[in-house]
Order: sequence, then structure tokens, then C-alpha cells
Amino acid sequence: MEEGKICRTNPESSDQVKAVHMLLVSYPLQGHITPFIKLAYLIAGRGIMATLVITEFAHARMIASEPDLGNERNKVRYITVPDGLSEDERNDDVKLSQSISEVMPGHLREVIEKVNMEGNQVTCVIADPMFGWAFEIAETMKLKLAIFWTSAPGVLALILSIPKLIEDGIIDTKGSSKLDGKIQLSPDLPPLTSADFLWNYSGNQTPAEIMFQYFFGIHQNLKRSGWLLCNWFHELNPLVGNLVPNMFPVGPLLASGKPAANLWPEDLTCLSWLNKQPAGSVIYVAFGSITVLSQHQMDELALGLELVGRPFLWVKRSDLIKGGSSKYPDGYEERVANRGKIVQWAPQEQVLAHPSIACFLTHCGWNSTMDGLSMGVPFLCWPYFADQFYNRSCICNGYKVGLALSPDEYGIVTRHEIRRKLDSLVADDGIKVNALKLKDMAHRSISEGGFSARYLDNFIQQMKE
Ligand code: UDP
Repeated sequence: MEEGKICRTNPESSDQVKAVHMLLVSYPLQGHITPFIKLAYLIAGRGIMATLVITEFAHARMIASEPDLGNERNKVRYITVPDGLSEDERNDDVKLSQSISEVMPGHLREVIEKVNMEGNQVTCVIADPMFGWAFEIAETMKLKLAIFWTSAPGVLALILSIPKLIEDGIIDTKGSSKLDGKIQLSPDLPPLTSADFLWNYSGNQTPAEIMFQYFFGIHQNLKRSGWLLCNWFHELNPLVGNLVPNMFPVGPLLASGKPAANLWPEDLTCLSWLNKQPAGSVIYVAFGSITVLSQHQMDELALGLELVGRPFLWVKRSDLIKGGSSKYPDGYEERVANRGKIVQWAPQEQVLAHPSIACFLTHCGWNSTMDGLSMGVPFLCWPYFADQFYNRSCICNGYKVGLALSPDEYGIVTRHEIRRKLDSLVADDGIKVNALKLKDMAHRSISEGGFSARYLDNFIQQMKE
């Protein structure tokens, strides 16, 4: 009987049938680390030993931002591995991805061997779909392998459909579109135009063909795992599950007060500031961890928020501006001081749950989308990169919980467009009703007996067999 191991992870658990130890292996970017850590907590909360493997660099930033992260009572263990990069190479996404696939596999194998020798036998690996090498290790070490898909159902459907799109002549083998009109990948997803193909949009000018090969690689990896965990709830897109066997939507994944594994320290002063704002009044503006704007675009955003005349909370990372430091329009900070709060990083889940929030101006990253859906907040969509464009279509045309900003002929979202759309959004009662319905559905799904809760139980059960 190996119950000692499970007891150490969660002494309250009566679930001591077989010692299961799940090793979660995340890509070291915020949009991956956050859902991975939330999943790890969820699993640990069910009495299962969960260990997150993460790069040393990302872990050091996480600890610096949230010293409580390593606290034993949080129940999730961390193991760090090097990423093989120097300080100045790390901001280059292509180098990061190459170095990780060269350096991490050897370390992962060692980690598993070491953990096994300590007596905490790893039984299952949950890997990012980008990590084909983790699959080989799991296969050769005879471990169960699950993939955790941290993006959206629509994007999953698109990637799964790549071979069919090629076969039907809709795209060629380099991802170039021949589509003139719209296609539907699943009856419960909004139709796509070629503008929604995620490989067309690269934040760092990587050509579409390289992006396409990258997503095609993910398609190949997706076929190799018996279990596909996802951060959404079944009711959101019930028919997407028909596209792939063994899909386990277990979301929305919520930190619910546990550390969210932030790479930037949260500025909690924004919560006391929100407490002073009227209910349903504040525009929350945040673009996730990667989006960058030009100085001109930032000026338009700042002036647009000023024009709207409502309170706003704006997450303005120090690296939000292309090429370095930014400045505000002349006299801006003084003019908005009585109704604008600007922070570097916010406790986003808590912010969106706050009763003072009216809407969310977002880049449509999938984690931010799930944060907003879970809290019933209407969206104003401003996508920047890859999957965010089709996420926008799903938010506005599928779930009907938001409006989209349109850039002008120079590619700039003007202050007037921001004001116009924000005014329309806060006045749109239909969107508010839809947002609250989805919030309710999401919370029912993760509650006992709900779809997401049952999917998680089912997955854990299968990991024990
Ligand atoms: N986030 C946060 N505070 C902020 C901004 C973002 O905690 O001020 C979190 C957000 O909750 C989400 C993640 O950062 O979990 C961003 O992921 P997303 O997929 O939305 O975007 P990405 O950063 O990958 O573009």
C-alpha cells in the first residue's frame, strides 16, 4: 500500500487507492504557466501529487513576484530546469523555443529518474502540446501522457482541421489560403474567413509559413496523446468534443485565491481603488503578457480612455511599448488622476470579479477570455497575435458577449473608435445578459456534479487505472 505518498500531498483525502503522481510540464510563458499552475492546484486539491516542471528563469520571477508560491500548504511542488539561454537571448521567442527543445528533454528525463528514486514514482506526464519531446520521454518511460491545451476550442478545431483544409484545397501545404468566403469547422463555432487563420498573425514578424509549420507540428502532437485536457467548460462549445476523442474540458480554471504564478508582481492597490468606484462603472484594460503597442497606438488608447469619461483601470506593463520606454500625452496623468488607475500587473481574476467592473478591453488571449467569461464581464476586443483573432470572432459572433474594435486604414485603433465602441458596449443589455448566462454556466460546470467537475474526476480515475 503506497498511501503514505498521497497522505503527504493531501492528508484530508480519502482517495488513497493508488499513488498517482502527475508531472506537469509547461512552456515558460505567462499564458501557459498560469493555466498549468491552476490545473496543478485543481489536481492537488483532489488528493493527487502534482509537480510542475518549469524553467529556472521563470521560477525565479514567479517567486520574486509571489514569495508565497513555494509554501508547502499550497501542495504543488516545483522542479526547475535550465532553459540554456543567456539574459539577452530570452526575449527572442524563436531562440527560446529552439533552446527549450534542445535543453529541456535531457533535464526532464533526469527529473523523472530523480523523483522516482526519491520514491514519488511519476505515473503521468501532462505536457504542453508544443513539447513533442516530452511525449517521447513519456512513451519510452512507459508513463501515461496527457496534453493540456491552454488555448481556445475554436483554435483547437482549426488546428485539428488542417489536413482536411489541405485536402479540400482551402489552404495549401504552406498554409496559404485559397478561401474566398467562409467555412464552418463545428456547428457551434462561428464561421471562419481566412482572416481568422492563426498563422497569419505573428507578433514578431515571423513569416506565416513558419507559423503554419509550427501549428501543423502541434496538430501532429495532438494525435499522440490519449487524454486532452482543456481550459473551458463543455457547455461553451459542446460539439467541438466531437472533433477529437478523449477531450476533457475541465475549466474554467480559477486560482480562487491561490498564487497565480505571476511573472510580474501584482499591484494590489488597484483592489482598494476599485472598492471606491461605483458598481458597474470601471473599464478594465489589459493586454496579457506579450502584446506590444507602438507609442502612437498607446497615445490613442490613453486619449480614448480619457474621452470616454468613465473610471478605468489600465494594466500597462513596463514592456508594453515596442522598443522600450513609453510616455503619456502631455498633461495626461494629471488630467485623468481622479478617475484612472494605472498599474504594471493586476490580480486579474479578482479585478474581473469586482462589482465595480463594467467591461474588459482585452487582447483576447484565451486565459483572459476565460477570466472574463467566468466573471460575466462584457468584452471589447482588440486582438494582437495568433489565436486572438479567431478568439475575437468567438467572443463577438459565437458567444455574443462582446464588440470588436476596428483599426483605421493605417492600422491604428483611434481614440474615437475606442470611445464609440465602449459607449455602445456599456449600453448593450443583450451582451450583459449573455455574459451573465455564461458566467452562471461556467460556475455550474465546475461545481460538484457539473460537466467540468465530472471530466476531472473521470480523468483522475483513468490515471489511477
Ligand atoms: N494576467 C494577470 N494580470 C494582469 C494581466 C494578465 O494576472 O495584469 C494574467 C491573466 O489572468 C492570464 C494571463 O495573465 O492568466 C495572460 O494570458 P492570456 O492567455 O490572456 O494572454 P497572453 O499573455 O498569453 O498573451
